[in-house]
Amino acid sequence: MALRSGNLAYMQYSELNRSKPVFVAGHNGMVGGAIVRRLSDLGFEQILTADRSELDLRDQSSVNEWFSSNKPEYVYLAAGTVGGIMANSTRQAEFLYDNLMIHATVVEAARLTEVEKLLYLGSSCIYPRLSEQPISEDCLLQGPLEPTNEGYAIAKIAGIKLCQFYAQQYGCNFITAMPTNLYGPNDNYDLESSHVLPALIRRFHDAKSEGEEIVTVWGSGSPRREFLHVDDLADACVHLMDGYSGVEHVNVGTGTDVSIAKLAHLVRQIVYPEVEIEFDTSKPDGMPRKLLDVSKLSELGWRATIDLEPGIKHAYDWFCDNYSEARGVG
Ligand code: GDP
Repeated sequence: MALRSGNLAYMQYSELNRSKPVFVAGHNGMVGGAIVRRLSDLGFEQILTADRSELDLRDQSSVNEWFSSNKPEYVYLAAGTVGGIMANSTRQAEFLYDNLMIHATVVEAARLTEVEKLLYLGSSCIYPRLSEQPISEDCLLQGPLEPTNEGYAIAKIAGIKLCQFYAQQYGCNFITAMPTNLYGPNDNYDLESSHVLPALIRRFHDAKSEGEEIVTVWGSGSPRREFLHVDDLADACVHLMDGYSGVEHVNVGTGTDVSIAKLAHLVRQIVYPEVEIEFDTSKPDGMPRKLLDVSKLSELGWRATIDLEPGIKHAYDWFCDNYSEARGVG
């Protein structure tokens, strides 16, 4: 079941030609998969994807060859090595290397083959740890980064700058969007590498199945995060691809946040209301708060429409329906 947002105005996209080939890099991931679904709902006729086994996005010559043969006109760059606070902090070398390479090869191949427009997806972790809240686009590079995700953040910042410099130096129409924390169908549920929402869904679900009395939540519960359903993000991406060609990056979020403690209570209410919650303060909290200022996106005519509670219910239904095949389970 798709949880559709209300931004149906975009059924009449003005600029995008649905018959032109569109490449979604990273279609097996949660974000890429949601963009493919959205494009397909909108009637795009040629949605191109490439599995990791057929194309290593870190290898420039393979990527150039793939672009020359497939000739995409629009590119959504949603590929990358991603993960939650634990994976980010323990595999910083991998996160930095893989993401730097993937961004560089795809952007360069898009330039060489004269792609009409490219949308690069970053992340809200690009912003300094102690940014003023809500975080506006101009906080970028104004202070030190959060150490638990520095490698990933540096790669993502390099990706933004790459697109901006390609726009300035070569005149490429390459734009960049910075989503907040995401969740939804086809998330990663591996407890070591996942983000908080899929981790909580899985922990409460497994505790219910096994009749356990306590669920552990990492950290103090006090950090605050903003959560955007991935179907909303996909919708925002198509909106930006259609109507935005500025050099500056654009934040994508809901404009509201919750504490991790509140989030845990919400998930408990949906999955297993009888269980007790305990906080494991030996685990890192990460950034104290990460709430995006979404005024620029609002001025561009887009807002999120999937509220957190129905969004979590939708994600949990997906998890139950796909338990045995869900990423990171088993
Ligand atoms: P972040 O936004 O980059 O910090 O990414 P995460 O989604 O991994 O973590 C967000 C917050 O949720 C952090 O404060 C974590 O300590 C907290 N958290 C609580 N329980 C969990 C869990 O089981 N997994 C993860 N990844 N984070 C958790």
